[in-house]
Amino acid sequence: MPTQFDPPSGTRDFLAEEFERRERAFAAIRSVFGGYGFEPLQTPAFERLDVLMGKYGDEGDKLIFKIMRRGEHEASGEADLALRYDLTVPLARVAAAYGSRLPSPYKRYAIGPVWRADRPGKGRYREFVQCDLDTLGSISPIADAEVICAQHDALVALGVTDFTILLNSRQVLAGLLDAYDIPEQTGPRALIVLDKLDKLRPEAVASELRDMGLGDKAGELVRALTADDSHERIRLALKPSERAMAGLSALDDLLALVSAELPPDRIVFTPRMVRGLSYYTGPIWEHVAPGIPGSLGGGGRYDHLIGQLGGPEMPATGASLGIERILMVQGPDVAPRRRLDVAVAVLDQRYAVQCYSFAAASRAAGLRSSVYLGSSGKLGRQLRWAADQGARWCLIYGSAEQEAGTVTVRDMTSGEQTPVLPGNLTAYLAAAAGLTEG
Ligand code: AMP
Repeated sequence: MPTQFDPPSGTRDFLAEEFERRERAFAAIRSVFGGYGFEPLQTPAFERLDVLMGKYGDEGDKLIFKIMRRGEHEASGEADLALRYDLTVPLARVAAAYGSRLPSPYKRYAIGPVWRADRPGKGRYREFVQCDLDTLGSISPIADAEVICAQHDALVALGVTDFTILLNSRQVLAGLLDAYDIPEQTGPRALIVLDKLDKLRPEAVASELRDMGLGDKAGELVRALTADDSHERIRLALKPSERAMAGLSALDDLLALVSAELPPDRIVFTPRMVRGLSYYTGPIWEHVAPGIPGSLGGGGRYDHLIGQLGGPEMPATGASLGIERILMVQGPDVAPRRRLDVAVAVLDQRYAVQCYSFAAASRAAGLRSSVYLGSSGKLGRQLRWAADQGARWCLIYGSAEQEAGTVTVRDMTSGEQTPVLPGNLTAYLAAAAGLTEG
């Protein structure tokens, strides 16, 4: 049962362990994306509402978190801003805003939270982080290939290896609608229904298409898409459509580029894969993994979006990885967490100043260090605290140490204790840390 202290449904708090795990994942993704020559971009969490509306199709638009007008305009009950729904539309706005001041082509990555007023479920949140990379200003299939391979490498860098990249193209989908007599005005709705083929039985999808007034040909299309030999059937059906054949040949070029870099069967032509967003214009792809709802990531070419936003007409391709589902695939982190490297015991408040300076000396060695903040003066209790922190060393300073002019460095693993001159503490710990790390 949720309590009043839970975060709003579909959002989460990240305590240290999970936070650090996520940060490690982001760092790995940044490193892969940077390695392909993509540069970082950060945009605001919210945008003007008119920038976002109309970009995600009817279904998507409904999921936009709107922000009401504020202050003297609050009574209007209108919204003028909205939390960003993805990182693509903000990128398009940046391209429109900065134009020729951006490098050309502009290869950027962005990692940040997005918000969708979705119904929360397994692997489906209302606040989640996307990791995007896009290339603006290139029609080359190499640009698509780079995005696909960089995403692939990022997943592998995160330890995810059991996944498939489904590849299709908007031209192929348009050709399919043509070939199966689905009228242009019904096309987008029909595609949304076909997109359910990964969740619903083919008969259920066919019946939804029939309910839309589409005839037997729509049922034939569903059968062709789900047949064992669907590739062949679809290729055959597309033959009369020039546009579809152009789309197919572009897909074959792209497949030739990436297949050489990817393990066999990692990427497969999947004519039934739709990707809901209305702005895609060319190849589209999605990463799926067994047992994971929806997709791990997805992307495609979207050659008109920048122009639609009032920017220059500019070809573009890009993709997004959702970190939440990647972490689900990774499973729980097994590495034990170390909060502190050096724990400093305080046996008597009279020694607080010295103890405090020992923590500083430990930090000067590049180690995480903190003094005991509790009220017990008992060494046993404080050693237990040091162990709970995962500390590698505990520093002990009492009357004996004061008399000897040293501080005792206790190795928490071996229990060995070494007297060290306070002036040598930083160098001693740095050397010890180097030794144990090496
Ligand atoms: P999209 O922008 O819808 O293509 O989503 C790109 C990626 O973001 C998906 O492949 C998922 O990994 C992730 N994603 C989308 N929606 C959600 C959600 N509600 N919760 C968590 N991750 C999501």
